[in-house]
Amino acid sequence: MKNNKSENQLLVREVFSKFLDSKSHRKTPERFAILNEIYDLDEHFDIEFLFSIMKKKNYRVSRATLYNTIELLLECHLVRKHQFGSNIAHYEKSYFDRQHDHLILTDTGEVIEFCDPRLHNIKKSIEEIFNVSIEKHSLYFYGKKIKNEN
Ligand SMILES: [Zn+2]
Repeated sequence: MKNNKSENQLLVREVFSKFLDSKSHRKTPERFAILNEIYDLDEHFDIEFLFSIMKKKNYRVSRATLYNTIELLLECHLVRKHQFGSNIAHYEKSYFDRQHDHLILTDTGEVIEFCDPRLHNIKKSIEEIFNVSIEKHSLYFYGKKIKNEN
């Protein structure tokens, strides 16, 4: 990460604030508290996890508010949504992220992030072949660790 965490917090707060203004959504302290918690996390999370950490910190935020705020954060690209195989949606902050993809270990549920520059070349060639401009992509690998039996 180039900036430190508090600078990043200010920046995403600004982005979210402008977005809420532009859509005439209310700028409630809960919404900013949720954004703040998400940008303090360094891992993927689901709504229940977010709910539990906010509860631990004595925020009075309902699950409905969490879902509603996550939808807004998705809309302004501050959060990215994932489906890692289970039917529970996972999320991660996305504003400062380098492009990365995910490898999911299906037996342990562990999610490993990787960045392979060759994907950029694949994207470029697909754009040329089909004469399109690609906006985003989604790639998940699912597998298991190979155990050496001896
Ligand atoms: Zn990720």
